[in-house]
Amino acid sequence: MELKDLKGIGPKTEKLYNKLGIYSVNDLLYFFPNTYVSFHKPVPIGNLQEGEVQAVTGMLEKDAAVVRMHGLLMTSVYLKDISGRLRITWFNAPFLRNTLRAGSMFVFMGKVGSYNGQKTMNQPKLFSPEAYEKKVDTLEPVYSQVKGLSNASIVKAVSQAIEVAEYKTDFVPAAIRYNRNLMEMKDAVAHVHFPDTIEDFEKARGRLAYNELFLFSLALVKKKQNTEDLKSCFKLTPDKRVDDFIKKLPFSLTNGQSEAIKIIRKDLSSGMIMNRLLQGDVGSGKTIVSFVACLETALNGYQAAIMAPTEILAGQHYDKMKKLLEDNDLNLKAVLVTGSLKAKERREIYEEIENHKADIIIGTHALFQEKVIYKDLALVVTDEQHRFGVNQRKTLNEKGRSPHILVMSATPIPRTLAMLMYADMQVSMIKELPSNRLPIKNAVVNEGYRQKAYKFIYDEIKKGRQAYIICPMVEENDILDLENVTDYVSKIRRVFPKEIKVEKLHGKMKPKEKDEIMERFLKKEIDILVSTTVVEVGVDVPNATVMMVENAERFGLAQLHQLRGRVGRSSHQSFCIFVDTENSKKSKERLSILASSNDGFHIAEEDLRLRGPGDIFGIRQSGALDFSIADIYQDKELLQKASEDAIYVFRTDPGLANPENMELRHELDMFLEESYVL
Ligand code: ADP
Ligand code: MG
Repeated sequence: MELKDLKGIGPKTEKLYNKLGIYSVNDLLYFFPNTYVSFHKPVPIGNLQEGEVQAVTGMLEKDAAVVRMHGLLMTSVYLKDISGRLRITWFNAPFLRNTLRAGSMFVFMGKVGSYNGQKTMNQPKLFSPEAYEKKVDTLEPVYSQVKGLSNASIVKAVSQAIEVAEYKTDFVPAAIRYNRNLMEMKDAVAHVHFPDTIEDFEKARGRLAYNELFLFSLALVKKKQNTEDLKSCFKLTPDKRVDDFIKKLPFSLTNGQSEAIKIIRKDLSSGMIMNRLLQGDVGSGKTIVSFVACLETALNGYQAAIMAPTEILAGQHYDKMKKLLEDNDLNLKAVLVTGSLKAKERREIYEEIENHKADIIIGTHALFQEKVIYKDLALVVTDEQHRFGVNQRKTLNEKGRSPHILVMSATPIPRTLAMLMYADMQVSMIKELPSNRLPIKNAVVNEGYRQKAYKFIYDEIKKGRQAYIICPMVEENDILDLENVTDYVSKIRRVFPKEIKVEKLHGKMKPKEKDEIMERFLKKEIDILVSTTVVEVGVDVPNATVMMVENAERFGLAQLHQLRGRVGRSSHQSFCIFVDTENSKKSKERLSILASSNDGFHIAEEDLRLRGPGDIFGIRQSGALDFSIADIYQDKELLQKASEDAIYVFRTDPGLANPENMELRHELDMFLEESYVL
């Protein structure tokens, strides 16, 4: 069934859905909400808590009054119950006058504020008591939107999709589903979109997360089954030009970096296949370590590849590598491979890879598409992501020559996961940051501080620095009152003087546009970059010293920590300003962890501890490992179960040959085709 066959979707609307990455009814099913709004029981006026979104009910004292203020029409009413009186206001909604009559009963839901010491509510949604009663304790999904497509229309489309959806046989064996008390897929999908209660949501989400974690575990277990020959065909000889290169670097290496380089060079020359994880917090300087490994490989007459999780990061690695090769008069060629290459460029580059004109190949996972054929690939580096590998090895192994593997990560990984993933890996750690760094100064502020923050950013720019401002949304959302990149750019262009260059960056932009913006930011042609979390991983612009995060309370702390890693990358003092628009006691407590700790692992753990099971921020807390619904921190225990199940499955049916495992085998094959698990 096509999108167009759904009620309310014509050719025009279909295009809007395409913009969201939705092309079929099935895509709609897996287009999960960003978050949910919940409808709690109304509380007495006297018990309202400032900063919380709450509902109140009562009788209107008088008809609504409409007055003109600062050029805007303001509508206001007073609501009364036995515990108190509440002033409620709306801007530019004079039509409400017809509804809001003295003596009538309403429920209002909105954020509690205060004015002159009195509690208030601005712009609340209003319901008849009967209509609200039906909604109490349900959760309403909130989806990402594009202009022209409201949340309500997405809700309608998704509900239709759920009605007509047909599900294949469940690939998770029935015994496991029973044992683990997993929801049926059909119900899980329906309830993730439209949960009745938080418990219901957790159960539905848990089912979908289980699927991902189970497949992931199966892939890891399967990989361990294929006991490989550990002898390497690529025994390198340490090259003196590598030592010269290191000596000529504009900085001296930290101990951690030197140690890592030493051991990696030893690995590469040992005659065994290297399989090493390089861990180091954001900004610890992992890139240069991997570059050295690539140089050694290339100078030995082989090819080396670096795979990055985003095009932005790949482009940046490529630029740096190219410059280093030129500066050091090394006669080696680097190429960049991303999904957005034009057909002609692509053909040329593929050819250079196949006939070994290209020595160092940098790119996204497009590097390991079938059509890319390597002549002498001896080293694969993967940066900031862990879902690379199995398939890649399969393709690479075809000629029977496994390359050396170096994985780099700043993500603190829970123990269970580390044991599962890195059981057969050697681990190196870079514990210190380069010595020229000053600790980042952090501040958690409320909205009232914004003007000061802008002034502060302005002063930093005057000193020659640059700033990031992060917003949670790309475009306006008709349900969530959160900052979005598109409107924010126009807004602050008016705040700052003309000479301050402000640009935007987000994931829905074309890869070419993204590259261009990043390049201009790096060249200092842009002063303030307003961005979504697409800059979260890896991006390195050392001259940027301020990061301001809007609606900081909406993000997971692990994610904020990663984001914060974009500043503090040079000898200049750097600053992080987290704007807490919720401004509740709880959000303050959470965000203050960031100010008090710089340890990514500690931060992730504390975040989990503080968050109760009922807190739904969004479906996921961090982008680590590229799961679409599972979260490595939140779902630690589920992962443990999934991995036990995976081991059990392979123990009872090593080849997955039993007829009842047919679906499972098929699903695993598909998973291995499209993802790369290390
Ligand atoms: P990450 O570990 O987060 O990937 P990068 O490799 O991007 O960090 O390094 C962060 C910044 O620090 C880069 O601009 C890099 O050039 C610089 N850098 C790396 N090593 C050192 C060092 N030993 N001394 C000073 N600066 C360094
Ligand atoms: Mg990095």
